[in-house]
Amino acid sequence: MATGKWRELEVPHKGWRWIDSVDLGKERMVCEMCESATIRYVHYAEHDNWSGILAVGCICVEYMTEDYVGPRCSEKRLRRNAGRRASFPKRRWKRSKKGNSHIDLDGYHVVLSQRGALWHILINLPNTAEWVDIEKEVMDKQEAMMIAFDSVMQLIAASSQKPVFKFHTIADILSLPDSENK
Ligand SMILES: [Zn+2]
Repeated sequence: MATGKWRELEVPHKGWRWIDSVDLGKERMVCEMCESATIRYVHYAEHDNWSGILAVGCICVEYMTEDYVGPRCSEKRLRRNAGRRASFPKRRWKRSKKGNSHIDLDGYHVVLSQRGALWHILINLPNTAEWVDIEKEVMDKQEAMMIAFDSVMQLIAASSQKPVFKFHTIADILSLPDSENK
């Protein structure tokens, strides 16, 4: 650990608090602490003597927080979810009489219906008659499946009251226009 901010005396090296971890989908940024590791799984940490938040890799966050369990478990969960996401379209989807594709995911029931050339996504909440309409229509069925997977994960996060973490969205990283700012 002798690169980047690890060499700067004014940056605290210990006593950081780990906030959350996020999967960027692929290696997209350089760890803000060592300024050398390219990272996909980003851990956010804050410190009383540092304004703002650092986005760092797993090894750095462990040294910074001296927490060798929390961030590692969180990253493991993100990795497992990434695997589940990648294989989601390949799972055994059922086909209804109307021609809709549907499948269960963590207690949620996902339905993809085709309207003309577009795929429409509906999600039935667990043990209810309530449906969420994911108001996004896409041409590509594979893409619709990915959106459905992400939507279920967001619904799960929302239902567990976990705040949705927004320091680095994929749109920020890719510098895409953020629809919320329009
Ligand atoms: Zn690092």
